[in-house]
Amino acid sequence: MAEQIEIGDPPIPVRIKRSARARRYSLRISTKDGAISLTMPRYAALAAAVNFAREQEGWMRKHLAKQLKPLPLVFGGSVLFDGEYRRIEPGTGRVVRFADGVLYVPGKADRLAGKLRAYFKTMARERMVNASVHYADMLERPIGRVTLRDTRSRWGSCTSDGNLMYSWRLIMAPRQVQAYVAAHEVCHLIEMNHSDAYWALVAGIFPDYKAKRGWLRLNGSILHRYQF
Ligand SMILES: [Zn+2]
Repeated sequence: MAEQIEIGDPPIPVRIKRSARARRYSLRISTKDGAISLTMPRYAALAAAVNFAREQEGWMRKHLAKQLKPLPLVFGGSVLFDGEYRRIEPGTGRVVRFADGVLYVPGKADRLAGKLRAYFKTMARERMVNASVHYADMLERPIGRVTLRDTRSRWGSCTSDGNLMYSWRLIMAPRQVQAYVAAHEVCHLIEMNHSDAYWALVAGIFPDYKAKRGWLRLNGSILHRYQF
């Protein structure tokens, strides 16, 4: 299980990599997705790593701000879809098509973002409705309406009358992460909080939830960088 620490507020997630060869602490920001990792000597104390990362908070924020530039959607470029970077190519006909790992988008370049957005929203709706029904069935609870939005602050929500809301940007995350968010929200049909009882419920229907939650913490901001 990978260790992770959080620095500052809003928290910067930092993945810990213990290395037998490391003699000192070093921070690295992935140019691909802005994920930060801290390499440390294998048997050093985690508290020392936290102190080191805290001292570097300013440096991390400066670099993250640079990294978090919006990503444009263009022909020949790529976009995340089901957790993988997919090439965007001009398509034929009227609808967006996904084949052999490529997103084919018909029409002119200035309509590309809008068409991809519509496609992603449709796919996200299908996915999140199916996943919500699946996990709600496991809990033997009915669900209400499912709404897809472009939300900044949360990936999903659940109201007391059982209506569910998801960010359609989740379609860019790996399928198991999408499934986790559905399981997470559906568990709120029973427990409207994040108590131990709630997490036990999540673990009951989605045992691997910690890793998927970690993925969203580390990579969630990328999903917001694409300019639709
Ligand atoms: Zn929740």
